Amino acid sequence: MSRNLADFKFKCNRCGFCCSYLGLIVNLTPRDVQLLARTLKASARDLLKVVGFYQVKAFDESKRALIEERMVLPPLKTNKGFAYIGLLKHEDGRCVFLQGKKCVMYRARPRICQSFPFSFQEKGAGATISIGSFATTNCPGIGEGKPVNVAKVKLQGKSTMRDISQYKRFAKWWNGRDSKDPRHWTPLILLKSMLAFEP
Ligand code: SF4
Ligand code: SF4
Repeated sequence: MSRNLADFKFKCNRCGFCCSYLGLIVNLTPRDVQLLARTLKASARDLLKVVGFYQVKAFDESKRALIEERMVLPPLKTNKGFAYIGLLKHEDGRCVFLQGKKCVMYRARPRICQSFPFSFQEKGAGATISIGSFATTNCPGIGEGKPVNVAKVKLQGKSTMRDISQYKRFAKWWNGRDSKDPRHWTPLILLKSMLAFEP
């Protein structure tokens, strides 16, 4: 992808499809959670109104270390099982921050929204850039408008990699805590820990 990036055209027409798709989780990193809290002036408890926990049905805990290493954003342990943390959605799939076709959290939207339709994956000291299959199939902005600003996309990639690395450090620490007390694994404690986690 990076070889042809200079030819890649994209212009978001604000159709809102990617913000309304039930099957897409808008994953959050500690940086996203901290930015949301600052923007909304929200406590961890307040954030529970906009942050959701998407349970992973079958999670083999004996393979946790491998999963944490291999998955871009591995699930986190909660008192109800392992879960992905993401923005809440309405029943029809609309993001909690979508009003009509407008994102009311645009300036503080999570990194995954900022970098759409691009996906980044670690490669040596840098990152590979690709377009995910959801975007290729469903986003009408692909191929529209002017060629993308390559420098800007690469910068986005760097920021994304930094956030992913922060998330992975968090997941390793959080999931590795040695406690059998369910009160230590609640969504509230998880959010408090994310808010306090170092950049
Ligand atoms: S699906 Fe594509 S064009 Fe529509 S809002 Fe999302 S990024 Fe923009
Ligand atoms: S935060 Fe904004 S850009 Fe991201 S999914 Fe929600 S409405 Fe869309």
